[in-house]
Amino acid sequence: LELSKVNLHKVLGDILLLQKRAVDGRRITFIQQFDPSIPPILADESLLTQLFLNLIKNAVEAVGDGGQVKVKSRILSDYSMMPKGEGRSRLVAIDVCDDGPGIDKEELDHLFTPFYTTKSKGTGLGLAICQKIIAEHRGMIRVDSEPGKGTAFTVMLPLI
Ligand code: ADP
Ligand code: MG
Repeated sequence: LELSKVNLHKVLGDILLLQKRAVDGRRITFIQQFDPSIPPILADESLLTQLFLNLIKNAVEAVGDGGQVKVKSRILSDYSMMPKGEGRSRLVAIDVCDDGPGIDKEELDHLFTPFYTTKSKGTGLGLAICQKIIAEHRGMIRVDSEPGKGTAFTVMLPLI
């Protein structure tokens, strides 16, 4: 883990820029909604890039023509979701939302299992790697999904 002060919005913005260019014929609307008051965070920049690239790629792969991918950052004042003893530092939350098909309840349990994939050319490693990177940063991840409406992955990282 190579920690330094990382500009989260620069990392996210760069990934979005690359993804916009990489989209095949589909029209996808990318939305970024960043809270400018979020300071640099202590993190491993290359791991953080890998983490959000995996999540944003999944969102891009999930949506169809005319779909929408939104990346949002916010400061979380409610840290009741953090395990006890993790300190009372504030958290930054990054939501990666898409309006793709969503994920079934039964499927949700398997998402982070290595090699679990529903894609013909998937590796099933993306989310397993995400989970590892988040754990290394003492963060958390949650998934909210409604079949037919879309999915939101929320990454929470300590703000130090
Ligand atoms: P891969 O992308 O190689 O399939 P991942 O670990 O990144 O592996 O994702 C595992 C599975 O989780 C995917 O195959 C897909 O079924 C599901 N998934 C992940 N993100 C989304 C999303 N945004 N919308 C719908 N399903 C998703
Ligand atoms: Mg993936």
